[in-house]
Amino acid sequence: MRKNKRRKKSEFVRFLSYIKPYWFMIAIAAFGGIIKFTMPMVFPKVMQYFIDDVLSSESTMSYTEKLHELTFWSLLVIGLYLFIWVPGVYVRHYYAGKVGHKVIFDLRYDLYLHIQRMSSSFFKENQSGSIVSRLMNDINLAQNMVGNALTNIWMDGAVIFVLLFVMLKIDPLLTLVSISIFPVYIIASKKLGRLVKKNSRQVQDEIAEMTGELQEKISGYAVVKSFARERYEKLRFFKEARKLLDYSIQSTKLNSINMFVVGFLTAFAPIIVIWFSGYLIINNRLTVGEMVVFYSYLGQFYFPINRFSELNIVFSTSMAAIERVFEVFDREPDVKEKEDAIECSADLKGEVEFKNVSFGYDNDSLILKNVNFKVKPGMKVAFVGPSGSGKSTLVSLLPRFYDPVEGTISIDGVDIRDYKLASLRKNIGMVLQDNILFSGTLEENIKYGNPRASKAEIIEAAKAANAYDFIIQSPYKFDTEVGESGMKLSGGQKQRIAIARVFVKNPKILILDEATSALDSESENQIQEALDRLMKGRTTFVIAHRLSTIINSDIIMVVDDGEIKEMGTHEELLKKGGLYEYLFNQQFGEVKKLMA
Ligand code: ADP
Repeated sequence: MRKNKRRKKSEFVRFLSYIKPYWFMIAIAAFGGIIKFTMPMVFPKVMQYFIDDVLSSESTMSYTEKLHELTFWSLLVIGLYLFIWVPGVYVRHYYAGKVGHKVIFDLRYDLYLHIQRMSSSFFKENQSGSIVSRLMNDINLAQNMVGNALTNIWMDGAVIFVLLFVMLKIDPLLTLVSISIFPVYIIASKKLGRLVKKNSRQVQDEIAEMTGELQEKISGYAVVKSFARERYEKLRFFKEARKLLDYSIQSTKLNSINMFVVGFLTAFAPIIVIWFSGYLIINNRLTVGEMVVFYSYLGQFYFPINRFSELNIVFSTSMAAIERVFEVFDREPDVKEKEDAIECSADLKGEVEFKNVSFGYDNDSLILKNVNFKVKPGMKVAFVGPSGSGKSTLVSLLPRFYDPVEGTISIDGVDIRDYKLASLRKNIGMVLQDNILFSGTLEENIKYGNPRASKAEIIEAAKAANAYDFIIQSPYKFDTEVGESGMKLSGGQKQRIAIARVFVKNPKILILDEATSALDSESENQIQEALDRLMKGRTTFVIAHRLSTIINSDIIMVVDDGEIKEMGTHEELLKKGGLYEYLFNQQFGEVKKLMA
């Protein structure tokens, strides 16, 4: 519990550090706010003067003097409003809003950068929709804290302080009576604040959960439809939406309770004040004018009190959101760049060595066990083995999507952890089974591999990737839009764009993970041809289900249960008569039988 309290405080302090650069704007906004709310305090004082000294039947002023006093003070009040109050109001709202937006911009940008630095495990563990939800919803809520809370607190504090002072000067006893109810209010607010924060956290968690789930189910609509699971999904959505509804209603309930707690106070206190001031008047201890002025001040006193209670709600809601945001900040990337990391050499050769490499996604079990091999530059290496044996995991260690728990991986004799991450990844190209193209033109998608690629290089890459012909036949050629709102590409076409993307990147090392397994044979031939071109002069790691594509590899490694069980050329492995021969016969046995 104590630990919790300390954490809460530190998150608030951490949030304040985002506001610090804009303290000056907050000060201006608060100053504007103080003007906005203290200026109206002049009015009751003028009214008291009118009632008790100018308009009273006991007044000794002449008609002209009375008219003069009335006009002079009225004009003065109008002047004060026009030249001080009006700019004050503008400054208060403009700067409070501006600071809110600026702080939120900084926070959102920082969070984005932080998320960008996160390692693969973070993206595997969190649904993309729920990450987006933190970036958008939670940070939006945090904005209220700056826009409202941090500017209001100063001006409301100041206004309450001034009003208390003025009221105490009129009648200390009356003041004490009128604020006697406040302790009840403070206790109620504290309790309510805690409930609001808890509830707000539930709402935000649920929104993130729903966003994550929705994003998954909407992009995976084909699965939902093909399995005719609409009814199941409908019920699931209903359940989640219902939960959100319940939490939101709870939030409305808490807000309403807050309203009546404060409302009761603002309705109840004046009656006590009127009764007590009436008592003082009949005892000749107070004038009617004083009662009117006190009553007006008391009215003004309630505004900031009301706002304080709203602020309590805003503060609690925002803090719940801010906590969620800082939770992401507190997650350190698993794969970190060393402070003194170096760039890969410009003429990297592409020699790769795994030395006693072991790896597990969690602490419980090792997926890779003591993997050892050395690959010369330009070699084509194939990994084969049963599904789930660890082939993809093995190649994902090379671009440091994960770091091994034991052992080292080196490129050209340098531990890959000594390279700068961006530099390392620039030298590794990947073509996967399911390649993602982003919304944009075909050219932009190819250029994603290298933003500095010239048009000539892009055309050359498209040709090498066997993509040029279909690009030229597309409606706008290289400027054809693809992605969600653009032209629909076939799996094979996407694959060829992905290959062109790697061609312009021109990496020394290549990873092809099941790159041809999901294609028809015509596409496969075209892609295989493009891949063969791409592999030339690059160290290549291929994972393939179909052994036909890897027969001519320089080395074939047979992975089973996270270990490299066999290693050699196709002929050597066949001769050996082990797992490779078994896998090979499984795929080609039928063909051989037919040919015999
Ligand atoms: P292969 O490529 O040989 O089919 P993988 O490398 O994909 O095998 O998977 C090896 C093992 O690691 C499997 O048991 C799989 O369940 C597990 N695995 C793969 N990815 C993850 C992950 N992100 N988190 C936890 N376990 C994983």
